[in-house]
Amino acid sequence: MTVANLMDVLTPALNEGYGVAGLVVQGWEDACAFVAAAEELRCPVILQAGPGCRTHTPVSVLGPMFRALAEKAQVPVVCHIDHATTISECQAGIDHGFTSVMIDGSRFHLAKNIAMTTAVKEIAHPHGVSVEAEIGFVGYDQGAVSLPTKAEEAAELVNQACPDALAISVGNVHLQTSADAVIDRVALEAIEAVVNCPLVLHGASGIKAEDRGWLATNTKICKFNVGTELRQAFGTSLRNVLDSDAHLFDRNQILSAVKPALIEQTKKVLKSIHARDA
Ligand SMILES: [Zn+2]
Repeated sequence: MTVANLMDVLTPALNEGYGVAGLVVQGWEDACAFVAAAEELRCPVILQAGPGCRTHTPVSVLGPMFRALAEKAQVPVVCHIDHATTISECQAGIDHGFTSVMIDGSRFHLAKNIAMTTAVKEIAHPHGVSVEAEIGFVGYDQGAVSLPTKAEEAAELVNQACPDALAISVGNVHLQTSADAVIDRVALEAIEAVVNCPLVLHGASGIKAEDRGWLATNTKICKFNVGTELRQAFGTSLRNVLDSDAHLFDRNQILSAVKPALIEQTKKVLKSIHARDA
């Protein structure tokens, strides 16, 4: 069975010192490219439907689509809802076949974040669905400013709500188009000293490949969310394909030609964190 949840893929990653990529899906073609890249490298992958994806395509379509890919894959594939901010969004994901959900209570105070994470775990775990939480706030490039994760708050959330993975804010920022994030290793060590669950870095496009590799091998960070870098690869490839032939008009023909470059970039991302196969 290649359909997996976060525990299935992150427990060995944490124990053996490598990372698993949470790749931001926007549609069928990129999801196929991500799975193809993971199969080539024989490593697990997490397909993520974030808020933008769920606005563009209903969860009732995305769930079966992700599951169909996961079920025929040759590697473990996690079907994950990214950045749900309500319990009902998580419930919709569970109802439509997702194997993992993130409940993002990072904009709320600690007690409410703990309560929401606990409530989502209660509806998710009976179905074998894993739960990722966030503490501190990972900001956005040109947008909302980050709030660094406080180790004592991370410990309280993990002790009380026991999520399967915890997203933290230690210098990582969403939507960065160049890799110049500086990870605060002192803050990370303080969190690692009091938290035992796998840690997650959102905004990994902004982290240099060699830094990702070091973090994957040497810290409890074992899920790296990557979106921007792959959306850039898709856009560049699409532009090149269209520029190469002014008469192209067929969507399937265009997107088939776009895919090889996206697979290559995805392999670079996977190799940067999955040292075992790099
Ligand atoms: Zn995120």
